[in-house]
Amino acid sequence: MNQDRLKETGAEYDAIVIGGGLAGLTCANMLARGGRSVLLLEQHHNLGGLATWFRRKGHVFDVALHGFPIGMIKTCRKYWSSEIADMIVQLKGIRFDNPQFSFTTTYDREDFTRILRERFSISQDTIDGFFDTARNMNFYDDQTMTTRDLFQRFFPGRDDVHRMLMEPITYANGSTLDDPAISYGIVFSNFMSKGVYTVRGGTDKFIGKMREELLRNNVDIRTKCPVEQIVIEDGKTAGVVANGRRIRSRTVVSNGNLLSTISSLVGNKHFSEDFVAEAGRVRLNNSSCQVYMGIKKGEKIDYIGDLLFTSRAERFDSHELCSKNTTSRTFSVYYPQTRPGFDMYSIVASSNANYEDWSNLSDEQYRASKEDLIQRTMDALEEYIPDIRNKVDYLEAATPRTFERYTLHLNGASFGTKFEGLKISMGLPKEIPGLFHTGSVGIIMSGWLGAANYGVIVANDVDKYLS
Ligand SMILES: Cc1cc2nc3c(=O)[nH]c(=O)nc-3n(C[C@H](O)[C@H](O)[C@H](O)COP(=O)(O)OP(=O)(O)OC[C@H]3O[C@@H](n4cnc5c(N)ncnc54)[C@H](O)[C@@H]3O)c2cc1C
Repeated sequence: MNQDRLKETGAEYDAIVIGGGLAGLTCANMLARGGRSVLLLEQHHNLGGLATWFRRKGHVFDVALHGFPIGMIKTCRKYWSSEIADMIVQLKGIRFDNPQFSFTTTYDREDFTRILRERFSISQDTIDGFFDTARNMNFYDDQTMTTRDLFQRFFPGRDDVHRMLMEPITYANGSTLDDPAISYGIVFSNFMSKGVYTVRGGTDKFIGKMREELLRNNVDIRTKCPVEQIVIEDGKTAGVVANGRRIRSRTVVSNGNLLSTISSLVGNKHFSEDFVAEAGRVRLNNSSCQVYMGIKKGEKIDYIGDLLFTSRAERFDSHELCSKNTTSRTFSVYYPQTRPGFDMYSIVASSNANYEDWSNLSDEQYRASKEDLIQRTMDALEEYIPDIRNKVDYLEAATPRTFERYTLHLNGASFGTKFEGLKISMGLPKEIPGLFHTGSVGIIMSGWLGAANYGVIVANDVDKYLS
């Protein structure tokens, strides 16, 4: 236990935010900007949550930074600062390569329309109908239609088109063909409006600037401070216990995993039976594996695209995508311009994964499986960079166990919960006044943009409650 980390914290705050992921950070910033006293407690030594980075042997690796919609610029400008918003730049080379198709796109409506018409021979009317339907979907629509139904309606039997439309979204938020179509429609349309964006300068600089902004707004930030308990008194939120110490607050916002917030941090006994039963039916989203490849100093890589969605699977299959031996992965290539002034290349391969495939391995099996993951990933990358093995001087893999360890997400869930989690997350304050949750839930509130925007929504709710 690290008592020191809480040295000189106040005895009471207007709000305590548990977790410094993008949702928690944005929520804390909004509350502090509105004049509220805020304590931010993060269990890891870095802020950022999944939007994080790490340094090894002269390399810097970004973890979850693969691409988000243009809306992130507006969100950052409005709720953070122009300086932070100005770090966001477009990724122009989004490449697809699988047995069904291979092309590079800017991943926006105009280019997708062209590709659907010219390569997939889809009529303009059908394309327009699909885009308009996806764009006009909202939370209050029919939630029984699945993404599979939506695709079948516009592109019956065209599993090549289904794959092109679904695969990138699956990587960005873990959703599948069987999730509600509205969650797909909202997220897909966000991307299609202007393409895919990322931050120039790297996640370290981006989160570093957020940290500075939080401090300017007087947020009391404490890292390496895991919260053990959310205190409920007389049916209302009364504070937290962290590092064995009790700190008072009328409002607590958990940015941690929704299900462990309910069952572990608060405890089921504080909720109504119906709520606990409904929460028990919320499914966690899947987890991820990653392979980090550092390129030797002085070596160069020819431009092969910024984001490569690659697969050897004959057809799109959500199960294949998460399986331990999947051939489907995204390569994010970080050229030196990603971090101006830092003349190094790195590549991060990401795949979706099932926690159960990794959780029960012995230490020896786990090590061997990680090595196998690394080697299979290098084999796949050799198709695009033939001499990659000579260029790499650092290799490391992350698995669902790694994600669980660093974020405390149950089962290493990298995209929160399935759709039904949103209602439970939003329902917390009705069950226990002063208790809030923000962060990846319900697919819609997932990813960089979804998480940050949910932070804003919850900050407004907290502010209303305090008033
Ligand atoms: C491999 C991968 C690829 C991705 N690709 C994309 C992409 O292309 N585009 C995109 O938009 N998004 C992508 N994402 C998703 C995106 O990164 C996340 O949705 C988003 O960052 C989640 O933010 P969050 O605020 O929900 O919480 P998280 O990032 O999950 O943060 C939660 C924080 O709470 C802290 N915490 C938990 N419990 C406690 C406790 N008890 N006490 C103190 N602190 C606690 C954790 O340490 C963590 O810092 C990807 C994610 C992964 C893993």
